[in-house]
Amino acid sequence: MREDTRRWIEQDQARCWHPFTRQAEWCARGHEPLVITRGEGSWLWDSEGRKYLDGNSSIWTNIHGHAHPAINAAILEQLGKISHSSFLGFTHPLAAELATRLCAFFPENTLERVFFSDDGSTAVECALKMAVQYRMQTGAPDRNQFVAFSNGYHGDTLGAASLGGVGRFFERFRNTGYRVRHVATLDELRALSPEEIAGVVIEPLIQGVNEMRPWRGGMLAELREWCDETGVHLILDEVMTGFGRTGRMFACQHEEVIPDFLCLAKGLTGGYLPMAATLTTGKIYDAFLGDAEKAFYYGHSYTANPLGCAAALASLDVFETEKTLARLPEKISRLSSRLATLKSRHPVIHEIRQCGFIAGIELRRPDGEKFPLGERFGEAICQAARAHGLLTRPILDTIVLMPPLRTSLEEIDSAIAALDSSLP
Ligand SMILES: *Cc1c(COP(=O)(O)O)cnc(C)c1O
Repeated sequence: MREDTRRWIEQDQARCWHPFTRQAEWCARGHEPLVITRGEGSWLWDSEGRKYLDGNSSIWTNIHGHAHPAINAAILEQLGKISHSSFLGFTHPLAAELATRLCAFFPENTLERVFFSDDGSTAVECALKMAVQYRMQTGAPDRNQFVAFSNGYHGDTLGAASLGGVGRFFERFRNTGYRVRHVATLDELRALSPEEIAGVVIEPLIQGVNEMRPWRGGMLAELREWCDETGVHLILDEVMTGFGRTGRMFACQHEEVIPDFLCLAKGLTGGYLPMAATLTTGKIYDAFLGDAEKAFYYGHSYTANPLGCAAALASLDVFETEKTLARLPEKISRLSSRLATLKSRHPVIHEIRQCGFIAGIELRRPDGEKFPLGERFGEAICQAARAHGLLTRPILDTIVLMPPLRTSLEEIDSAIAALDSSLP
């Protein structure tokens, strides 16, 4: 190991605290985390010069590949002008343009306003706070609860966490945050009386953290219908599914659904900078007009950061210049056919779940039983795949495969080959 690598690991193990990580294990002698030092296209390099395909798009963020010349140039151009100024009291050209372009993905008079924040959790927090304050200002202050789906994931700040349905993350914080009812199905939702419900929150088309589990087709449109009938707001968390991942720009477009709130983050800047957006309707926005106390008192220091906006606008341009969406169907079907072959070769693959360019590969014992959790089988497979040039993470025993959208057919094949060599 190079001397630099050793020093970085020592400094990290002495001082850093990693997300979702058992630190005792991370810092244990003999654990040598990869130090990622460079990226280009769908590939990452570590400090030892080894190269890996970015199999989970750097935790679901990267869209057009790393160090994309157009996105880099846009950030650099903005860097030469100013890195950050306040969106509280001022505006700037790129935020104005970005908000306009985001709304233009939706029909006139639907989603018309954009509130910028920093990451997926805060995009969801904004939607929740707006939804509750909207009810206060429209004569329905008791309508202050939310409904979320079992096993859903909407972020880790307390408001977003109160929606979370993944027990192992959120159970211990149950009595903090919003009052949330969790339902597993639409039928369970329909059984609730809507009088106290401000909004229902869902990851459309596919639940990510829930081991990549797609919803049944048509479910989202039916949910929209129920919301229309009951006056409950539909809050779509497209933090993962947004920006082409499912094959359309936004997952809701597959079922021609327009939400009352749309939460975007991860892929918004192409995966280059932390930035988020909450889109909402003119009707909701209008309830915040008038007296001072009607304003939405919410914001973060880096709201609408100009570098983030520059990256986001450049990413939207790349969607056009590289015809990213038009080229996806071929990649999506290549991924399906290669995954089907992989499954036929490895009895340990229990199920392949795919939605667009997002795939989950669930591993179980050949008799169909789950592996004991303590065995951490999925982790072992991902660890093995590194030696074959693929970097990804499992969720429990489901291997996530969702490389950047720019990944070529040959690169898809190489990711599958790495798994083929790593699976028993
Ligand atoms: C990642 C994710 C979030 C949280 O986003 P952060 O940027 O990590 O705060 C929220 N919702 C969904 C569906 C996500 O995948």
